[in-house]
Amino acid sequence: MLTRFAPAPTGYLHLGHVVNALRVWEVARAEGGRVSVRIEDHDRQRSRLAFETAILEDLAWLGFHGDGPVVRQREREAVYRAALDRLVAQGLVYGCDCTRAAVRGAAAGTDVPALHPDGAPNPERGLGSPPELRYPNTCRDRGLPLGEGLGWRVRLSPGVEHFDDRWLGPQVQEPAAQCGDLLIRDRLGNWTYQFAVVADDTEQGVTDVIRGRDLLASTGRQIQLARWLGRPVPPRFGHHPLVMKSAAEKLSKSDGDTGIRHLRAAGWSATDVLARAAALAGADSLVRSPGTWGA
Ligand code: GLU
Repeated sequence: MLTRFAPAPTGYLHLGHVVNALRVWEVARAEGGRVSVRIEDHDRQRSRLAFETAILEDLAWLGFHGDGPVVRQREREAVYRAALDRLVAQGLVYGCDCTRAAVRGAAAGTDVPALHPDGAPNPERGLGSPPELRYPNTCRDRGLPLGEGLGWRVRLSPGVEHFDDRWLGPQVQEPAAQCGDLLIRDRLGNWTYQFAVVADDTEQGVTDVIRGRDLLASTGRQIQLARWLGRPVPPRFGHHPLVMKSAAEKLSKSDGDTGIRHLRAAGWSATDVLARAAALAGADSLVRSPGTWGA
């Protein structure tokens, strides 16, 4: 069993991350698995080395230690190229020159609901997340090359994807209807979250994905993408509740008062932080003394 803790270094570690880390390490320890710490710095414009360093330092201070070396997306260009080649060989990738504004406008003009919720039955999903923008596949048959300055998209197949969530039970999603053809590289040359995460989970052999419910709607498309990348049996997924600031707003890293740096500076101990995160998660059973999560 291999799972992962996968923060984006676009801000400091906050209580929402700690709630996720508690779940990730708890499940891994309970099932005799390993945890890979993966720095998701695919977005080169927003990622900062200073955030990465601080995240890793705060994690260690809390007693969360990964198994094996830290994985960094910026060092994995070869993995993404190999994954891209597989998709290209299947005729699935095309160039797209649509701007975000154009996608928004085109989506609004079609019969397909432009702002599709997510098709997931769980009412908790969606709290604090904007409705999803569906790309109406405008460039699908235009024959644009995979050139610099263009987005690269993968054709999704119509149909449903099923999975059995560790906490939510059976789920059904329809990726092509939810989001349209998936952007895998943006116009600035960044691999996208959806693509990098599937290429990584596939190449690393991640067996269990444990993450917040804000990512629930992404799972069907990730299962489909993984299949194109040669993984017929996807990982097992578990989406835990998010830590909410209020009923409608999820906690985000811009909230300085929940930043672990801030709490440390205010005199909180690692035990205090873990207890607070566990209480927020409504999972007091997850509290452990610091230092017990390592390999
Ligand atoms: N990197 C993502 C984030 O920071 C999490 C990725 C995932 O768990 O799939 O929200």
